[in-house]
Amino acid sequence: MSWLPRSYLQFGDTLQSESSQSPPTSNSSTGHLSCPQTSENTLSSPPRPSAGLCPQSGLELVEDEPIPIVLVQGFLGTPGVFSWDNHVYKHHSTSENSGSRRQVIVPSVGPVSSLHDRACELFYALVGGIVDYGIKHSILHKHDRYGRHVSDGLYPRWSKLRPLHFVGHSIGGPTIIKLQYLLAQGFFGEEYHPDMILSLSAVCAPFRGTQLVYTLGESTTSAPAVRFISVGNFLAKVVHVLAYLSPILPAALDVHADARRLSYHDIGLRELLKHFWRSDWAESHDAAPFDMTFEASDDREACGEGVVYSNTFYRSYVSITVFPRFSHLIPFEAGPSTSAIRDFDFDALVPKPSFCASDAKASNTAPLEEVRLEAGLGPSSNFLGDEYRLNDGVVPVFSQWHPLQCSATSCQHYSDGHYQYKPFVQPGVWAVTTTHGSNHLSLIPSPIWGSSFQKSFWPELLCWLDEIEKRLR
Ligand SMILES: [Zn+2]
Ligand SMILES: [Zn+2]
Repeated sequence: MSWLPRSYLQFGDTLQSESSQSPPTSNSSTGHLSCPQTSENTLSSPPRPSAGLCPQSGLELVEDEPIPIVLVQGFLGTPGVFSWDNHVYKHHSTSENSGSRRQVIVPSVGPVSSLHDRACELFYALVGGIVDYGIKHSILHKHDRYGRHVSDGLYPRWSKLRPLHFVGHSIGGPTIIKLQYLLAQGFFGEEYHPDMILSLSAVCAPFRGTQLVYTLGESTTSAPAVRFISVGNFLAKVVHVLAYLSPILPAALDVHADARRLSYHDIGLRELLKHFWRSDWAESHDAAPFDMTFEASDDREACGEGVVYSNTFYRSYVSITVFPRFSHLIPFEAGPSTSAIRDFDFDALVPKPSFCASDAKASNTAPLEEVRLEAGLGPSSNFLGDEYRLNDGVVPVFSQWHPLQCSATSCQHYSDGHYQYKPFVQPGVWAVTTTHGSNHLSLIPSPIWGSSFQKSFWPELLCWLDEIEKRLR
């Protein structure tokens, strides 16, 4: 079976694109956060919808060179650990249509930082300048407004006429979503626009959170508190040591804590030990672990984050490792994290995720049945559906699809994962591809992990990017 498109437009026909949606203003389910980015921008205009430009007529590329790819890494990902750019170049020659080599940019962003902080760091890594986290954000989250000075931006010409392709692995995906949201809000200034993101390709991205974050230590009832005896708590201590020693550590261990003043230049050993007991960073609403909770995801979506923009091309690649009961379909061994996600007790969560609400169940489950069957998942055996339990070892399937429920966005889902080159090239719609037998780490470059997944992924992606540009030029 190859690339069977299935549109949700039997109910998506009535869906509105971002340009016609009015952004929600608050999330009554959680209460504690109210669209911080929206309220942040006292100097900017209200959220701007996409300009509604048709890619054939409105968006004109000013250069003939292939548009560079910006690769945004996931949790704990730092430049220097894995050579993503060389890895992509290696696969470049197998791309059918790439006339000249496409530049790959790998910016450095906080490996454990919140989506907001990562998006700000990503923006300034590209255009250069002093990282500005925003005045209200920095007051709310008790860190400095300004971070490091990026003297040489990696792509200072970035603009609406010189847009970029983005590829996000793991939380790199929601980081790019956050960046586009902030661009749309005018957070970085009126001259920047969401159309500067020409395409977004997300791989194993936890757009809507993951239950694994609770398994690793996040409190199920009082996030962002972290259980004292947990992997998350241990990791927080390691991060504080790295931040403390940051002036003498190499770039590969850079945790981007500049605005938090955690190095030995700023605090003494006693304060470091205090953070060991209770971390003001790891146990805050401004850190990656909390952003991966369902609570934070609901907050973001309630603020209008994650809607599609009509001039951006979206793809997501969904990986599934096997559960014992599906082993006849996918001959791949599942690890303990896979089982933890499968067996997670959603009833333990306070507040309840939006997808557990009774009205959400009604709208979620029925339309997705066909997708589930196409993806070879079998009929749903519980009320929530297998997409909440099937996973890639880190992220459940439903969260890898795209932000928002299918009924609240525009999407097409494809089954099968052989990456035959049959591009779906349409802006403003998520093209979701599910692959069986790959896992959360399958894309990470490494001589040991070099896989058929990588060999097929990159050439196909590069062909898709070529196809986009052909249509625009
Ligand atoms: Zn922050
Ligand atoms: Zn969908």
